[in-house]
Amino acid sequence: MKAERLKQLPPYLFVELDRAKRTLQEAGKDVIDLGVGDPDLPTPPSIVARLARAAEDPANHRYSFTEGIRELREAIARWYDRRFGVALDPQTEILPLLGSKEGIAHFPLAVANPGDAVLVPDPCYPPYRSGTVLAGAEVVPLPLLEENGFFPDLWAVSQKAARRAKVLFLNYPNNPTAAVASAEQLQEAVDFAKEFGSAVAHDAAYSELAFDGVRPMSFLQLPEAKAVGVEFHSLSKTYRMTGWRIGWVCGNAALVAALAQLKTNLDSGIFQAVQWAGIEALEGDQAPLQQAVATYQQRRDLLIDGLAKAGWQVPKPAATFYVWARIPTQEPSMAFASRVLETAHVVVTPGVGFGQAGEGYVRFSLTVPTDRIQEAVSRLAKAL
Ligand SMILES: *Cc1c(COP(=O)(O)O)cnc(C)c1O
Repeated sequence: MKAERLKQLPPYLFVELDRAKRTLQEAGKDVIDLGVGDPDLPTPPSIVARLARAAEDPANHRYSFTEGIRELREAIARWYDRRFGVALDPQTEILPLLGSKEGIAHFPLAVANPGDAVLVPDPCYPPYRSGTVLAGAEVVPLPLLEENGFFPDLWAVSQKAARRAKVLFLNYPNNPTAAVASAEQLQEAVDFAKEFGSAVAHDAAYSELAFDGVRPMSFLQLPEAKAVGVEFHSLSKTYRMTGWRIGWVCGNAALVAALAQLKTNLDSGIFQAVQWAGIEALEGDQAPLQQAVATYQQRRDLLIDGLAKAGWQVPKPAATFYVWARIPTQEPSMAFASRVLETAHVVVTPGVGFGQAGEGYVRFSLTVPTDRIQEAVSRLAKAL
C-alpha cells in the first residue's frame, strides 16, 4: 500500500550507480567516493564534550519544545548579529529545526496550498522539489545556467506561474553548482517576491564554507528581505554535525510561525543536549571551522589543478565543498558517471540527478583526504 503522493515524488536516479558501487566494493575494489555531501572530518571535540556533559543532566532527558530552548535561540541571534549584522528576535524570528532538511521539506506544507506554484531551482538540493510535491503544490523549475552565474532568470518566469507562486526557493552558496550570489542577484529575489506576493526561502547551509577570503552574505542582510522571506541554516556542514540533526529557520515572523505551528503537530523538538552542543558550536572556538575551510580549499585546488593537467578545465568554486564540472565528452551525465565508476572506480554524482538543467555536468564532493583526491585525479586522467 502506498499513497498517491509518494508516487508523485521524482524517482531516485542513483539506484543503478549505488548498486554498481556496492558490487565493486564487494569484489574488493578500491572505490573512491566523491559522491556524498557528508564531511569526512569529525565534529570538533569541544562540541562532542558539551553534548556528553549535557547528556548527563536529567533536565535534558525530557521532551523539549518545538521552539527549542531559549538559550539556543539567543545564541543563534547573537551569531547572526556577529556574522551578518542582522538583528533577529529570538522569540518570534528564529525556529530551531531537526536539521535544516526537515524544515525545508516541510516549508511548502506550511505555507502553500494544493495547486499553488513553488519556484524551485534546477539543478537543486532535492528536498525543495520533494517538499513541494508532498504539499500537493506544483513545481515550477527555475533553470540555473552557467552563463547567468547559476542564478535563475526570475523575470523569465511566466506571469501566470509567478502570480501563483507561494514560495521561491534559493540556495547560495549553491549545492550543486557551488555558485555564490551577489547582493544584486538576491535583491532581484526580494523585488520578485514583493511584486508577486510569494515568500522567499533562502537556504544558506554553506554560508561559512567559502575560500580565498570570500564571505557569502545572508539573504536577510538586504533591507526588505525580512518582509518577504526566511533563511534556512544548518550546523551540519559548518561544524561537521550532519548526524546530529540541528539547524534553524529565521526571518519573517509569520512564515516562521506557520512552520512552527506545523511542527508542533509533527515533532517534539531537538534533544536538548544537542541544543546545548549547538550553542557550543556557535559560541565556542572557531578554529576548527577555519581549519576545515583551509582543508577544503586545499582539496579543491588539488582536484581542479589535477583535472586541468588532464585536459579538463573546471572553474574554481569560491564556496561549498563541491566542484560542479561540465563533462568534457559528449556523454550524458549518467553514462559518464557509470563509465568513470567502472573504469576508474571513482564515484561522481551525475548532474541530471539534481534536475534536468544539471544534465551535462557532474558534481565532485571534496569530502575525502588529499591523497585520495590525488589518486582519483590520476585515475580520471586515464579514463577521460
Ligand atoms: C547539506 C545541505 C543542507 C543541510 O541539511 P541538514 O538537514 O541541516 O543536515 C541544507 N541545504 C543544502 C543545500 C545542503 O546541501
